[in-house]
Amino acid sequence: MANKILLEVVTPDRVVASREVDIVVAPGYDGEFGVLPGHIPFLTSLRIGEMYYRDGSETNYFAISGGYVEVQSEKVTILAEAAEAARDIDVDRARRARERAEERLRKAKQEGLDFLQAEVELRRAIVRLKVAERRLSA
Ligand code: ATP
Repeated sequence: MANKILLEVVTPDRVVASREVDIVVAPGYDGEFGVLPGHIPFLTSLRIGEMYYRDGSETNYFAISGGYVEVQSEKVTILAEAAEAARDIDVDRARRARERAEERLRKAKQEGLDFLQAEVELRRAIVRLKVAERRLSA
């Protein structure tokens, strides 16, 4: 269909989404960007963040844990380290992950250790909680 674009969200474990949609909005390394059908082809990396698509009146959100996106005129492929649809997010697990990451971050800062990994874990947990809230408010 000319006015739709095929979205595929793939992780090393599974295909998280595969469907024709009206628009995809993704967390590019340099900022959020939107892709409509007929977009010029490009390839870029993704940061940890929120992705969504719209299809008619439906909007579905996903938490993306970094990866790559390939845009072709009729297809968007998101290759993510991990990705969860809002409805699949386990909120208690993400809260526990956030607490663990905050604790690690505090300790690493106190002890002058490298805290980049703890920061990444914290960002993932925060994005999962934010995306899960989209489901609750939908
Ligand atoms: P945790 O510390 O809770 O295991 P994590 O950030 O280490 O979280 P990842 O390594 O990013 O987890 O992901 C491992 C797998 O678990 C992936 O398949 C990811 O989609 C899934 N996952 C992680 N956290 C959640 C969550 N809160 N709800 C649903 N799936 C999750």
